[in-house]
Amino acid sequence: MTLETTTIDTLVVGAGQAGVAMSEHLGKLGVPHLVLERDRIAERWRTGRWDSLVANGPVWHDRFPGMAFDDLDPDAFASKERVADYFVDYAKQINAPIRTGVEVKSVERKSGEAGFVIETSEGTIEARRVVVATGPFQRPVIPPIAPQTEGLHQIHSADYKNPQQLPAGAVLVVGAGSSGVQIADELQRSGRQVYLSVGAHDRPPRAYRNRDFCWWLGVLGEWDAEVARPGREHVTIAVSGARGGQTVDFRLLAQQGVTLVGLTKAFDNGVATFQADLVENIARGDENYLSLLDAADAYIERNGLDLPEEPEARRVYPDPVCMTQPILKLDLAQAGVTSIIWATGYAVDYNWLHVNAFDEKGKPKHQRGVSSEPGIYFLGLPWLSRRGSSFIWGVWHDAKHVADHIVTQRKYLAYQDATQREAQVLRDEATQREATQREARALSGVGVN
Ligand SMILES: Cc1cc2nc3c(=O)[nH]c(=O)nc-3n(C[C@H](O)[C@H](O)[C@H](O)COP(=O)(O)OP(=O)(O)OC[C@H]3O[C@@H](n4cnc5c(N)ncnc54)[C@H](O)[C@@H]3O)c2cc1C
Repeated sequence: MTLETTTIDTLVVGAGQAGVAMSEHLGKLGVPHLVLERDRIAERWRTGRWDSLVANGPVWHDRFPGMAFDDLDPDAFASKERVADYFVDYAKQINAPIRTGVEVKSVERKSGEAGFVIETSEGTIEARRVVVATGPFQRPVIPPIAPQTEGLHQIHSADYKNPQQLPAGAVLVVGAGSSGVQIADELQRSGRQVYLSVGAHDRPPRAYRNRDFCWWLGVLGEWDAEVARPGREHVTIAVSGARGGQTVDFRLLAQQGVTLVGLTKAFDNGVATFQADLVENIARGDENYLSLLDAADAYIERNGLDLPEEPEARRVYPDPVCMTQPILKLDLAQAGVTSIIWATGYAVDYNWLHVNAFDEKGKPKHQRGVSSEPGIYFLGLPWLSRRGSSFIWGVWHDAKHVADHIVTQRKYLAYQDATQREAQVLRDEATQREATQREARALSGVGVN
């Protein structure tokens, strides 16, 4: 099957939440466009996440403005399948022109004229503009320190599905952002011995004084922050919607049975070494947690809100043994560790995008998604315009900005000077005359027959 369309104003690559949002705004603004998706709509939510994953934000928050999750309580956390279904329904609702099962293989600038030639798995298409909505998390990253030890089962969190998939034995989970923390918790609850390597992290309360942290980040302007706080650019955020949503508390995880260790430094002859930074990392996470409580209290007071006090949220549980006597070396075989799960993040992959839109490190060069290569746009990337950019609700607002930019460019291109306007009037008159003559001939023909 080949593409029916061979030229289009705007081509959107990817039909995850970013591609669907982009299509909504382009459609509303009357921009002819096509969305190409190599798999299915919101495929990553369906197959690129572990089985039990639920959204990190409640459904009143983690959605687009144009549709609610009517079957769920607003404070519930949607399952990954439900999130994927939501985007399929949304695409139907806006009648998005999406072709699934079509992979974009390359994008090249046309020489001597504006626009791009796009090679796809279903043929060639030309577009004036291309919106790259292929996701913030495309290529799982496993750091080079990963050991070569034979018989050790190693996977990235992107390939983790459930505890049964792992060989029997203990597990080392490297990385304690939202993925690492949730996977470690699930494995421990399934009866595994789990070691969790904890680096720098932010740790907001799941909820405080009857408001979810998504609400707090919203009213406190944190979702709109344009840049990460200095020194915290690569800091992960540990939050979970699992089991109805609970605050991630590392001391409680340890009490439950997870053994915490510091940042993973190296592996040598089957022995893992960890930095002596566990206590410091947890202390900085606590600081982040408490600063949000302080900001929330100040906000409540300043705005005279009637929200119940919650002093127990400030309770600090005793440091577990793994914090008072941190493990700095772990003989994996002796500890019975048979698997390592690398919850160490993702990188982007643009090897199909042959345009001048990248810096020397290969990172997209753009301003709020408008790239340095005219006609190329990026969407869905972390911090594209603000902290919320790679999240469900945030990408919708960025897509609006990108669509507005496209419309403005189209208006400039549609501009005609006085001479062009006059010529256009003459062309329109000639077309009108021809149409009238054709009609007259047709009518006289009716009489003859
Ligand atoms: C574990 C995890 C949990 C998350 N939980 C939440 C959450 O609870 N709330 C939230 O707001 N955000 C969450 N996120 C962040 C973000 O919302 C998701 O990563 C989301 O999938 C990003 O959507 P996207 O449309 O930008 O990219 P993707 O969902 O990755 O979609 C990109 C699409 O592009 C397609 N594609 C890629 N290359 C090509 C090509 N060359 N040709 C054609 N198609 C192509 C892919 O098949 C894919 O369908 C989570 C992320 C992870 C990793």
